[in-house]
Amino acid sequence: MPFRWSLNPYMGCAHRCTYCYVRGYERRADRPSGEEYGQSVRVKTNVADVLRQELARRSWRGEGVAIGAATDPYQPVEGYYRLTRKCLEVLAAARNPFSIITRGPMIIRDIDVLQEASRRAEVHITFSVPTLDPTIWRKTEPGTAPPRQRLRALRAVVDAGIDAGVGIAPVLPGITDKPELLTDVVRAAREAGATGVWCNVLFLAPGTREHFLEHLARDWPELLPRYERLYRATTYLAKSETEPIKRQVASLRERYEVADRRQVKLEPAPQPEQLSLAV
Ligand code: SF4
Repeated sequence: MPFRWSLNPYMGCAHRCTYCYVRGYERRADRPSGEEYGQSVRVKTNVADVLRQELARRSWRGEGVAIGAATDPYQPVEGYYRLTRKCLEVLAAARNPFSIITRGPMIIRDIDVLQEASRRAEVHITFSVPTLDPTIWRKTEPGTAPPRQRLRALRAVVDAGIDAGVGIAPVLPGITDKPELLTDVVRAAREAGATGVWCNVLFLAPGTREHFLEHLARDWPELLPRYERLYRATTYLAKSETEPIKRQVASLRERYEVADRRQVKLEPAPQPEQLSLAV
C-alpha cells in the first residue's frame, strides 16, 4: 500500500520474522540485522509529543499516516509504554486519517480509541496473517502471536465497527503459496469478518536476504536452490512469479465473498458542503 508518511513508535521488532524487510534498513544503518535483530527494541518515548507538534504545523495537510511500516506498533513493551495508544489519541484528536499494520492482538486494548478515531477520520487496520500453518508460523515468525489469535482480535475490532482486513504478507514461494494454505487464510479471514484481503510476495533486500536464506537452508533445504535462482540478481520477483499468486488470492477473495459486512460502520461524518454566495 503506497503511503507518504509513516510513524513507528518503536524500532527493532521483538517479533523477529525471518523474512523481515526491516533487517535490510538496520543493516544499512550499521545496526545488527541477523540473529541479534529484535533482541532489543528502541523506544521513542517522546513520539506522541513530536506527533502532536507535527500535526499542528500550518503546513500539515492532514494526509494519511501509516503506522507500523517499519516495526510492529504492538510490541510486547507497548504494554508498558503505551506509546502507540498515545499516538492514536493524538491522531484522533487531530481528526487525522491513519492506517495500522500489525501482528499484535494487543490492539484490542485500544478499541475505544480506534472507535473514536474512526468517527473522526478514515481509519484502516490490517492484520498481517501470512499463513495459518502452525509449523510454518513457528519457523518464520518466532516472536509473534499465533495467527488464529490475530484473527480473533480482527473479529473484535470489526465487531466494534472499525474497518479491518487481512494482509497475506509476505507470501513465501514454495512454502505458503500452496492453494490449500492460501485458501485457509482467505476463508478464515472471511469468517473473522475481514473487510478485505490482499497479498504481497516476499522481497529480499540485502540484510534480509542473508538471514532469510540461512533459515531457509535450515528449515527447507530443498528450496534453497530455487530461492537462490529466483532472487539471484533481484530484490523483487518478476511479475511472472508474483501475478499468479495475486490472481489466486483475488479469486479466493471472490469465491469467499470477502467484503465489508460490518453491522456497525464507524465513519467520519460527511463534511458540510461549502456554499458560494452569488452576488
Ligand atoms: S512483525 Fe513486521 S516489523 Fe516485526 S519482525 Fe515481523 S515483519 Fe518485521
